[in-house]
Amino acid sequence: MLIINSTIITWGKPNEILHNHAIRISDSIIQDIGFQKDLLEKYSTDEILDAKGQFLMPGLICAHTHFYGAFSRGMNIHGSAPADFPEILQKLWWPLDQSLTNEDIKYSSLVSMVDAIKHGTTTLFDHHASPNSISGSLDIIEEAFRDTGLRGVVCYEVTDRGGYGKADEGIAENVRMIQKVNNNKVFDNKVSATFGLHASLTISEETLKKCRSVLPDNFGIHIHVAEHSVDEYDSIIKTGLRVIDRLDKHELLGENSIVVHGVHMDMREIAQVVETKTWVTHQPRSNMNNAVGMADIDSMIRMGVKVCMGNDGFSNAMWDEWRTCYLAHKLWNQDPRRMNGSSVIDLAVYNNSDLATHFFNGSRIGKIEIGAKADLILVDYTPITEVSTGNLPWQILFGFRDSMVTTTIVDGKLLMKDRQLVFLDEQKISSTACELSKEVWKRYERQF
Ligand SMILES: [Zn+2]
Repeated sequence: MLIINSTIITWGKPNEILHNHAIRISDSIIQDIGFQKDLLEKYSTDEILDAKGQFLMPGLICAHTHFYGAFSRGMNIHGSAPADFPEILQKLWWPLDQSLTNEDIKYSSLVSMVDAIKHGTTTLFDHHASPNSISGSLDIIEEAFRDTGLRGVVCYEVTDRGGYGKADEGIAENVRMIQKVNNNKVFDNKVSATFGLHASLTISEETLKKCRSVLPDNFGIHIHVAEHSVDEYDSIIKTGLRVIDRLDKHELLGENSIVVHGVHMDMREIAQVVETKTWVTHQPRSNMNNAVGMADIDSMIRMGVKVCMGNDGFSNAMWDEWRTCYLAHKLWNQDPRRMNGSSVIDLAVYNNSDLATHFFNGSRIGKIEIGAKADLILVDYTPITEVSTGNLPWQILFGFRDSMVTTTIVDGKLLMKDRQLVFLDEQKISSTACELSKEVWKRYERQF
């Protein structure tokens, strides 16, 4: 397939904006890029996708999300409003995840994925919890990825909050999925896995040891770290160590591991993250909503932390997350010089691309270049000022809206064209989700 009549944003290094160019997709990858007239001659029998002047760019990447939280939208939180993050866990997320059945896991994943396709997010790292439906839960999410055509990484949040039996079940679920990914090439490099852990504050030393002992070579963990100061103090009380030191003692950090948030990590912990080449993800909308504070991302970047961007289960409209990141750090620090637009691009574009590329065995994801995966979106943006590589971050932050995404392609396959989902029935998926969510809300309420 040839994509013609677009303005191409490559997100290469250096970034380029190409005019009068076309790209050719073949076998899930970008097989050629060149002047449009040359490519039209060279591949005269190819199917044509006419972008009609839209921007063509790599699909967006979300480095940390929770599909299972989808049914929280509009739900009445029991009792008085939670006063801090630990209360939010106890009053909202834990009773909610305990209410999920296999069918709920399927539909909370599907509605999140439809949302992602519609807003141009093509690769997502999910962090799943469903304590009353653990075994097989990751297969359900993996199947949803395959049914929707998106690219994703799955894991199960191991925790001791339901007792050692459920912790063991979570460990087994991660190991089984990792082995499935490792041994079985039916995934076509579209679904991968990592080893999920909830957070240090709900995990005992015994369970951490067990996780380490079963973690296969070349795989790491995906864990919330120091989202709230309670995580640090719990770790110090339990072990005398701060969270990152604790994870390091168990040899759980490294280039295959992702730590989420890191809001309350101290300087020594940040240095340890750099030394071990561990990834960090930043989710400013979630941090604001939970009022847990903001990580010092500017300093982390300066120290060499590989900071990526996720959404923590907020909408899969990632430009909302970018914009929040750009604005939140200015307010938090009361300094409009903080969080430069190009730093947002470093997180959300370049580091997310490196993360996805790392987790998909070096398949290049998140850039337009020959040989990269054809994960692409068309954006119907009409500039009112000249767009250049220099001002592109601010054109996006102040001009792009996720609703401007009209076409989404993953692995060379059209998932949405001209705002119409190609093979998914959104109405049917959404109405089924609506029905299921009523029962989830009843099961949630019965726990109080
Ligand atoms: Zn999270």
